[in-house]
Amino acid sequence: MIQTQLYIDGQWQSPIDQGTRTILSPADESVIAQAAEATRADARLAIAAARKAFDGPWRQTTIRDRARLLNKIAELIDRDAEKLAQLESLNTGKTLTESRTDMGDIAATFRYFAGLVASESGAVNEAPHHVISRTLREPVGVCGLITPWNYPLLQAAWKIAPALGAGNTVVIKPSNLTPLTTHHFTQLVAELDLPPGVFNLVTGGAEVGAELAESLDVDLVSFTGGAYAGESIMKAATGNFKRIGLELGGKNPNIVFADADLDVAVDYALNAAFFHAGQVCSAGSRLMIEDSIYDAFISRLAERLPRIVIGNGFHAETQMGPVQSAQQHEKILGMVQAGIAEGARLVHGGKRPAGDVFKKGYWLEPTLLADVTAEMKIAKEEIFGPVITAERFRSEEEALRAANDTPYGLAGAVWTRDLDKANRMSRGLRFGTVWVNDYHPYFPEAPWGGYKASGIGRELARIGLDEYTELKHSYINLAPKAMGWFGA
Ligand code: NAD
Repeated sequence: MIQTQLYIDGQWQSPIDQGTRTILSPADESVIAQAAEATRADARLAIAAARKAFDGPWRQTTIRDRARLLNKIAELIDRDAEKLAQLESLNTGKTLTESRTDMGDIAATFRYFAGLVASESGAVNEAPHHVISRTLREPVGVCGLITPWNYPLLQAAWKIAPALGAGNTVVIKPSNLTPLTTHHFTQLVAELDLPPGVFNLVTGGAEVGAELAESLDVDLVSFTGGAYAGESIMKAATGNFKRIGLELGGKNPNIVFADADLDVAVDYALNAAFFHAGQVCSAGSRLMIEDSIYDAFISRLAERLPRIVIGNGFHAETQMGPVQSAQQHEKILGMVQAGIAEGARLVHGGKRPAGDVFKKGYWLEPTLLADVTAEMKIAKEEIFGPVITAERFRSEEEALRAANDTPYGLAGAVWTRDLDKANRMSRGLRFGTVWVNDYHPYFPEAPWGGYKASGIGRELARIGLDEYTELKHSYINLAPKAMGWFGA
């Protein structure tokens, strides 16, 4: 049985009130771990340790030290990649293939930011000859990092790598549903010779996150999760006007025009919606199909859905695992029923798969709801499960209007062979990422984040490092002389 602890001020420790949380396998509801469940009091200790470390010698580290640190972390992730991938699959239910991909992406993220940090040099500005004017990037201070349960270590890496690379100190709080890989990652960091307090792990629920958001000793909160928590973090941050980054949900259109390569578009429509059982912030769950190919496209999907192999993520043949929690399972089934009640047509799925092996655990069939209209709740709200809703459109203008008619703006895709149309659509769509003839790829080199209610700020790319820095103008007058402005 796995047991986890908190890591505060360079020490492994239990929560002050000895709190624990039982972690269940999404695949069969067996107990897989007892995780430390912290309270606000533990979070305060971690914040104090991070504050002390930031105000101490950590401020003197050089970009070379920090680039080396990130590269060293990447090496340790590579070393433990298989162990980490297994923990991620055990805790989230995702297939081992997906978890292994995550670990490769995580190591790449640390290496990317190591390179970026090493190339950081500030700027010398044009100024009078007796003045040295420099633009400097400095760390923000203590960073509270709050992560969700769907990509536990990947989302953590997007925050930890730039935060440490820029010279900040860190308190990380993973989702209390999926703390296992962040705990193992912390064991890796503990192998390194970091000053106590530079990196702290506090596993717990919303109140621990709220403490990070409210604390006057935290200078920046970076949060990935749902809109509800995002809103409360934004309000709490006004206490000291801390910097905030919010990566929130999405309602992501996958728009297929009649001139697209339909074989490829059908294939990608499945990957867009059912990868990690649809529990992806950028999942292409809102399929929009041009009228003339709509019926054929639905038929082809209907034929493919029963062939998707559902099963335990550890089995090599599995293509889709369970959803992560009982709460998600219930919510997704409720959304499907709401869609049917509003007039959508259930083509496939919408229930727990048959068979003894699926009686326990949070299993769902891949689901297709056709004849959805833009006004329906299922076309507007994030489902976050293995459900495609299919809408019909008759013109480019209609597709663009309907796709943009959502409070969210995270990601979307367009399928067409017409380059001019592809360009018009990708300019017209108000989303942080727009793919053409593809779905899902992202790179550490390219920014990730949302327009509108999908969040504030960006992760990855240079901007993903800049968000963890303050910009300073350093002005040094080498030959000060009296001005005489107010006379002698
Ligand atoms: P959630 O908002 O319930 O929880 C996210 C994290 O915030 C958890 O660690 C949780 O304990 C903590 N938390 C909850 N309430 C809090 C509060 N009031 N103050 C501070 N912290 C609080 O989200 P979730 O269910 O874990 O994740 C799913 C959501 O995350 C989906 O909406 C998904 O779209 C979004 N997401 C977005 C991205 C992105 O890049 N934009 C990536 C992954 C997930």
